[in-house]
Amino acid sequence: MAATVHGFQTQVTKLLDLLANSLYSNKEVFLRELISNASDAIDKLHFLSLTNPDLIKDDPNFKIRIKADREAQTLTISDNGIGMTLEEANNHLGTIAESGTEEFMKQLTGDKAKDSQLIGQFGVGFYSSFIVADKVTVLSRSVNAKSDEAVRWESDGNGTFESEQITREARGTEIILHLKDSEKDYLSEWTLRDAITKYSDHISTPVELWCEKYEAPKEGEEQKDQEKKFEYTQINDAKALWTRSPKEVKDEEYQEFYKHISRDYQDPLTWAHNHVEGDLEYTSLLYIPKNAPWDLFTRQHDHGLKLYVQRVFIMDKAEAFQPNYLRFVSGLVDTNALPLNVSRELLQDSQVTRKLKKALTKRSLGMLEKLAKDKEQYTAFWTQFGNALKEGPVEDYDNREQILKLLRFASTHNDSSVQDVSLEEYISRMPKGQDKIYYLTADTYEAAVNSPYLETFKQKGIEVLLMWERIDEWLMGNISEFDKKEFVSVTASDLKLGELADKDEKQKQEDAAKEHKDLIERFKTALGDKVKDVIVSTRLVDSPSVVISEGNRMMTSQMKKLLEATGQKLPEEKFTLELNPTHKLVQKAYQEVDENRFKQWAELIYDQALLADQGGLKDPGNFVKVLNALLVD
Ligand code: ADP
Ligand code: MG
Repeated sequence: MAATVHGFQTQVTKLLDLLANSLYSNKEVFLRELISNASDAIDKLHFLSLTNPDLIKDDPNFKIRIKADREAQTLTISDNGIGMTLEEANNHLGTIAESGTEEFMKQLTGDKAKDSQLIGQFGVGFYSSFIVADKVTVLSRSVNAKSDEAVRWESDGNGTFESEQITREARGTEIILHLKDSEKDYLSEWTLRDAITKYSDHISTPVELWCEKYEAPKEGEEQKDQEKKFEYTQINDAKALWTRSPKEVKDEEYQEFYKHISRDYQDPLTWAHNHVEGDLEYTSLLYIPKNAPWDLFTRQHDHGLKLYVQRVFIMDKAEAFQPNYLRFVSGLVDTNALPLNVSRELLQDSQVTRKLKKALTKRSLGMLEKLAKDKEQYTAFWTQFGNALKEGPVEDYDNREQILKLLRFASTHNDSSVQDVSLEEYISRMPKGQDKIYYLTADTYEAAVNSPYLETFKQKGIEVLLMWERIDEWLMGNISEFDKKEFVSVTASDLKLGELADKDEKQKQEDAAKEHKDLIERFKTALGDKVKDVIVSTRLVDSPSVVISEGNRMMTSQMKKLLEATGQKLPEEKFTLELNPTHKLVQKAYQEVDENRFKQWAELIYDQALLADQGGLKDPGNFVKVLNALLVD
């Protein structure tokens, strides 16, 4: 039967073009990808053989072999893992299934220099073969297929591949790379030894390289006269990295292992490796990536840890061991406490799973606490994953205080939007007499930092936490205190400034109300039932006015916007206008003798306070009209 020619999925063709043309700075990663795939294939078969030992009885020793043929200029990577059928080869080696890779394709700009940088940050798996090869042949036989149902797949990476059924005795897969002339270096034993050591030391399967056999020269015989002999030599120590003692494992090894299990091309930000004995025995190796995956905040984001039972790989992305707010933590857990035949369903309602989840949550939080000691590193972490961690205090009541300690905010204490102030730091700076944690939520940092609500706080030297992420409103609506100190929004209507004020100031407020009685009355009449009330302010300094909502205290303007965005109808709300009688604009308005003109001033002052608070107006046209009328005069 002749081979059939297939076109690659469009994305694959694009990717291959890019690979061929990009100056790949780190070419040898193709070895990591191919060794990684071979090791995955072996893990999968190993798992199946637990319940069906017959599958591997004729070839029971798993191994990965690498052989360079200098004459043919080929490099072959073979494994005796699960193998592929013709259909599987067509599907898996002709398309890009992973949504992350698709996302990556979308990010491509067409600018070669930029794109080749991007590609360096992304795993392109099997296709990385074409970095060094101008033709790739794959021979494979699935463990489930007869020997005459094996497959040959071949491509030069130019838009198409061909595949056909062949006969092959051995189970597993053989990837034959026909190396480009420029990449002959990968035929050299020492180049290969170096790269393979790097990419396979942590793998639990033996990786063997076809090496020259060294024999001591016989007496009286020159070494060069000897015929060269070759044999397979094991290069790695085939000991799963996590089973080793943390003291023995080098940083680079942790980093390489991370890349092997995560599909991330970058080094991780940090990791934690623990062996735990006693009641619940387990080993965990947890990592925090440098960058958040693009889909961290979408539903399709799949996450979870790799699960091993007694060193045997059981499943990928087991999400039962982590709370959702820690979904950015990757890595593995290996335990003796679960049966080898455990399924996802069993995991869901297992007592052991719950215990492990609790323990691993503590481990992750501990890892973050450690990271937080390095402010710079923690800020890097926070920018990527902070919004996920903010789900924690609500999702995980048991660990609420511990998680709250890990949150970071921008604050009026700093002159920047960098979120690096912890609640503990905030409390340590509280002046005597302050017993609440003040915060402000807004649409943007600029809106927050320029909010008129901050003026009194500034004046009194009281720090306010500034928040403008979508999740903040929800978070603050769901937590009430930290370290026994209540969270209070500075826009809250029942904010008792008296608490911050001493007796003198209370007196001052009463005096001011008396003193400006006329002014207040005039505004009240002019605005009529547009406002709930008009009061005089002692807290405003630079702004003429603010509005105070009389609604539910939790229902701040941000929350309202969120609700409105979901299509909910909210009752029309009236605001109290708080006036700063010392402000020039208010004074100017007050001096106006023409009542009609005064009405315009009053509206303007009310509308701009609304605008600052709500970020929008019901009737912006009218606002502009009034403003222009007054400007022209
Ligand atoms: P990934 O490993 O991230 O799935 P790759 O591009 O590396 O992506 O591989 C694509 C798919 O091809 C694998 O998921 C697997 O199904 C199949 N595959 C690749 N190499 C092998 C192999 N040595 N043995 C069996 N299947 C393989
Ligand atoms: Mg792969």
